Amino acid sequence: MSLIPDLDDAYLPEEHRMMRSLIRRFVEEEVKPHGERWEADGRVPREVYLRLGELGVLGMGYPTEYGGGMGLLGTVLLGEELGRSTFGGFAGAIALQTDMGAMHLAKYGSDALRQKYLPGIISGRQVVCICATEPDAGSDVAGLKTSARRDGDHYVVNGSKMFITSGIHGDLYLVLARTDPGAKGSRGLSLLVLEKGVPGFSVSEPLKKTGWLSSDTAQLFFDNVRVPAENLIGEENKGFYYTMEGFERERVMVGALSIGQSEAALELTMEWLKNRKAFSQTLWDLHGIKLEMARLACELSAAKTLLYHAARNADQGQPATALACMVKAHLPPLLNRILYQCVQYHGGMGFMNGTPVERIARDARVLAIGGGATEVMLLEVAKRM
Ligand SMILES: Cc1cc2nc3c(=O)[nH]c(=O)nc-3n(C[C@H](O)[C@H](O)[C@H](O)COP(=O)(O)OP(=O)(O)OC[C@H]3O[C@@H](n4cnc5c(N)ncnc54)[C@H](O)[C@@H]3O)c2cc1C
Repeated sequence: MSLIPDLDDAYLPEEHRMMRSLIRRFVEEEVKPHGERWEADGRVPREVYLRLGELGVLGMGYPTEYGGGMGLLGTVLLGEELGRSTFGGFAGAIALQTDMGAMHLAKYGSDALRQKYLPGIISGRQVVCICATEPDAGSDVAGLKTSARRDGDHYVVNGSKMFITSGIHGDLYLVLARTDPGAKGSRGLSLLVLEKGVPGFSVSEPLKKTGWLSSDTAQLFFDNVRVPAENLIGEENKGFYYTMEGFERERVMVGALSIGQSEAALELTMEWLKNRKAFSQTLWDLHGIKLEMARLACELSAAKTLLYHAARNADQGQPATALACMVKAHLPPLLNRILYQCVQYHGGMGFMNGTPVERIARDARVLAIGGGATEVMLLEVAKRM
């Protein structure tokens, strides 16, 4: 079996380990049997969010008063277990809800906004989207053009957002928009909460993707959308900084998804190699295959330690930004290398739709692009060297 170290005893308190067991059981019993249907439907059903809300999973990362307080080590165990499901679209959609969407609302939103929206998000009654990317601004977040002009006690929003996860079936949209057209780059951006159904707000058909099939992805359009001024999160023109702060959590989450998917793929591949016969022996008896699998196990073990260390540093209030960038720069490419090899060793079966390694391989690709492409992360690491 897998030699990848179990770091739970070294890093996780008892409460976290219990939560891991609970999520693992949920994934085995309530995700894996249905994942293929969700992929065919192109969405994770609302009942799944409600169930995760009931289990306390959606609130884990929020402040203690919302039943959370499990910090980034909570993010790690959640991401690993979601990743182990082998359904990347499901994992991504839930990760958006727990660790990427509404953290800014929880941290910087007014009491009124938090009271209005957080209970729905944490219970799974409302699905939340984070809307930063635009058709002409992705990695370069500060280059975005969507505007929010103040008009009395409202903002008037115009523009478009691209590749928004849960964009079709979401209820709440945290939109990063330019509130000060005179300010350069990142300085004049603010975060606003929009509700689905407001006049002038429309959503594209689902975008067709290579992977992440059970999460819906859309382009959003804003045509003179009036948003109450009280839906501003925190202070005007501070939205970029709030978003950047949230990236640390998002990067750790992507690292944890990568570890979970890698471990699942290596386990599936080991089982395959030990059973599949060729040249009068099992594939595992072939020396070259053994060496490569051992090499990948070594690399994954080292990467996993980096992930836990970054999360623990952040939870202890120690500097973790550079470590989180390293996690995001290193783990998704490693996951993709691992999956290249796992598909290869499955031969033709690895290329067949619906085999778990095929699914993990196609879902793996986006983790090196979304939430900060590998190159952008490497530059962030270099900046701190
Ligand atoms: C399935 C999916 C879901 C997504 N969900 C969301 C969401 O919910 N909300 C949201 O706001 N966004 C979302 N995104 C958008 C995602 O965050 C962006 O795609 C990502 O940030 C890259 O931006 P881009 O696609 O515009 O690529 P670009 O910014 O055009 O970059 C293209 C490529 O150029 C390279 N590159 C870019 N900058 C540099 C640099 N400085 N140095 C060297 N190389 C560089 C990288 O290889 C990069 O992949 C999602 C994307 C996908 C595919």
